Amino acid sequence: MTTQATAAVLYQVKQPLVIEDVEVLDPGPHEVLVRWKANGVCHSDLHVITGDYPHPLPVVLGHEAAGVVEQIGAGVESVKVGDHVCSSYIPSCGRCGYCIGGQPTLCALRDSPRWFMLDGTPRFRKNGQGLHHFLQVSGYATRSVLLEQGVIPIRRDAPLEVACLVSCGVLAGAGPVINRAKVPPGATVAVFGCGGVGLNTIQAARLVGAAKIIAVDVLARKLEWAQEFGATHAVDASREDPVSRVQAIAGGGGVDFAFEVVGTQRTIEQAVLSTHRGGMAVVVGVSPAGTRLSLDPALFLQQRTLTGTSFGGGHQRTDVPMLIDLFMDGRYKLKELVTRELPLTELNHAFDLLQQGEVKRSVIVYR
Ligand SMILES: [Zn+2]
Ligand SMILES: [Zn+2]
Repeated sequence: MTTQATAAVLYQVKQPLVIEDVEVLDPGPHEVLVRWKANGVCHSDLHVITGDYPHPLPVVLGHEAAGVVEQIGAGVESVKVGDHVCSSYIPSCGRCGYCIGGQPTLCALRDSPRWFMLDGTPRFRKNGQGLHHFLQVSGYATRSVLLEQGVIPIRRDAPLEVACLVSCGVLAGAGPVINRAKVPPGATVAVFGCGGVGLNTIQAARLVGAAKIIAVDVLARKLEWAQEFGATHAVDASREDPVSRVQAIAGGGGVDFAFEVVGTQRTIEQAVLSTHRGGMAVVVGVSPAGTRLSLDPALFLQQRTLTGTSFGGGHQRTDVPMLIDLFMDGRYKLKELVTRELPLTELNHAFDLLQQGEVKRSVIVYR
């Protein structure tokens, strides 16, 4: 049995996505079919389109989705038809060493190809040909099949067109502050990159009570957004050396914590250099394949830490509902992250806006 979906399909890198009807196969054992309500437009999808992040084609992209469970396969126990869910682009099985050891964002399920279901086949078909999934989510389709372990049930009163943002950018940005750095009240923090993810790093730093939150970007518009989301200082790296400026604002030789939310060699190195001895730099941004760093090892003899996170580095099954609770309680900005709501037919335009730095987040909404 199959159902239909409208999907955005990438057939060739650097080419526009083709919006077309595709077949969606029934969910297999421990799989679920979700009818998506919304999917945010994220830079990681763009990396595949530009070829910076090589991926088998054709593929249905999208990995920041929220929707309603429409059908469940055999043996599915953790969700039922009608449940509202966020996608989890990193599934967690609850059984592997990583999951049991408290690091479910590193789950062993990541080791199998993320463009197929676990049986090694896709659930999308067009003219008899299979289409690849993206991170086993593929939210740029009105429907897709996911692993049971790749959906996170959420409260029903949360609006799905903003809840979808928590499925990537929000948790990816906020999680490193809460889970990895565990930023304490009064800390000094620098955030390099103030787009849709970095604004969440800033917002989380504010939430946990950081004293100085120094936003660094090269676009004045993004620095304004940063201040709306809680930054106490703004540094325009197109006009001044961000490392010396951050050090001067922080005092004491640099910041306690620097978060890199761009994904370039230069900004990762700047993040490390802007910390004081014993400080921590956290990589959040996704760098193009082949990126390498050049840093003086003496920085690490001074007990600095350079680390990073996957999907917030915590427990995605509880972190996603937690952030949605904070939003519903008025303590976390989600609506303010959405600059544009667009239909799927305008997805190519949405990527243009993202590339031009015009938007915090665009959200594709299915009516
Ligand atoms: Zn993303
Ligand atoms: Zn696992």
